[in-house]
Amino acid sequence: MASAKKFMERIIAKNPGEPEFHQAVKEVITSIMPFIEKNPKYEKAKIIERMTEPERVIMFRVPWLDDKGEVRVNRGFRIEMNSALGPYKGGLRFHPTVNLGILKFLAFEQVFKNSLTTLPMGGGKGGSDFDPKGKSDNEVMRFCQSFMSELFRHIGPDTDIPAGDIGVGDREIGFLFGQYKRLRNEFTGVLTGKGLNWGGSLIRPEATGYGCVYFMQEMLKTRGESLKGRVCAISGSGNVAQYTAEKVIQQGGKVVTFSDSNGFIYDEDGIDGKELACVLELKNVKRGRIKECAKMFDCKYYENKRPWNVKCDIAFPGATQNEITEDDAKALVKNGCIAVGEGANIPTTPEGIKVSQDANILYGPGKAANAGGVATSGLEMSQNSLRLSWSREEVDKKLRDIMIAIHEQCVKYGKKGNYINYVNGANIGGFVKVADAMLDQGLV
Ligand code: NDP
Repeated sequence: MASAKKFMERIIAKNPGEPEFHQAVKEVITSIMPFIEKNPKYEKAKIIERMTEPERVIMFRVPWLDDKGEVRVNRGFRIEMNSALGPYKGGLRFHPTVNLGILKFLAFEQVFKNSLTTLPMGGGKGGSDFDPKGKSDNEVMRFCQSFMSELFRHIGPDTDIPAGDIGVGDREIGFLFGQYKRLRNEFTGVLTGKGLNWGGSLIRPEATGYGCVYFMQEMLKTRGESLKGRVCAISGSGNVAQYTAEKVIQQGGKVVTFSDSNGFIYDEDGIDGKELACVLELKNVKRGRIKECAKMFDCKYYENKRPWNVKCDIAFPGATQNEITEDDAKALVKNGCIAVGEGANIPTTPEGIKVSQDANILYGPGKAANAGGVATSGLEMSQNSLRLSWSREEVDKKLRDIMIAIHEQCVKYGKKGNYINYVNGANIGGFVKVADAMLDQGLV
């Protein structure tokens, strides 16, 4: 593995101050290096060197006026990472922690994820350090309009199709789409996650969470297990967490936690459908804090803590990167957790992954487990091109079939003896398609 070490030294020197990007590249390199050594054509064409360099990085100023008439300035980004398989595709994140390194890590992950979905999509990611929390709808609209006033010239339905991510939900997608349409004088499928009555797809809001649960069911099946009666800890309380919870409850599991960046609630008796509806109303309409649910549900609230110390069978991290540390993973294993399904992107640190794998628990990495969101975005693009809308059942079936196909690829490339290393499976499975397309397309 000496060449992997050297390669990482070069990546770190060339991309200073981007620890999340280094982390994402290191994980992939560790998985694929043995595969590349057996297939020298990739080494000869310097495929990994090319895949770790974005095709294009766009960085721009986003000035906007707040409600007091004060000028505010944020920074906008779009990383167009790889278009070997199709137009760039990946979400926009609005969060104060956003920077170039975080978006490069997300864009890099997206390339492999999109490849795993089997749909024709390249990888990209974008966003801004703008924080929608505490802003009025008018402020969010003015920001989105200013953001799109620059971004529109770089994207398009056959070039680059952004979607939502942290801080970008249906409200923001609406404002972004409105401004794109106005500037281009075109009504096209340039964004996914659109409203249902103006080009959105049924099941898109639910897709990442539902897909994550479908992937978990496939992992559990390999050990003759199911979700029924299983106690599930979920982090986050946004889009991914909400629909992970909905599907877990539908499948007979018990959801005991939700969190946000201030803390988590723990309801030992399980959050039921009615309580889940309150979480959706609180987060999507009132835009409140999760601790307000503790009073409503008469359950416990832990300030500034993550939910990994509670007793659970299954963990679904659905908030942000590096939220399961080595100690958190040890606590999960000690408390009898049998599986982790990542709704978020890279929510587990490398040390945390090692703890889970050493303990032989099922560990489904985000690039496989949360690919249902972008897969359904791909289905939204197909419907937009066909100018048709598929039924809820049709989209849900396609989503489930895609998650099953992703699981099969992980098994194909990750099974060694009796153990399925889903990290290796997802990385190699995602890599092969992109790398072969790059070979076919010459030195671009
Ligand atoms: P939302 O903005 O809807 O929700 C994010 C949730 O995570 C909120 O509860 C938020 O709390 C919490 N959170 C955000 N940052 C932090 C932090 N630094 N520490 C603790 N909690 C935090 O985003 P999504 O649900 O869409 O995304 C969640 C994760 O899933 C992200 O990693 C995203 O990249 C990934 N993902 C999303 C997809 C999608 O389709 N939406 C697709 C694939 C992956 P608070 O309100 O306090 O900020």
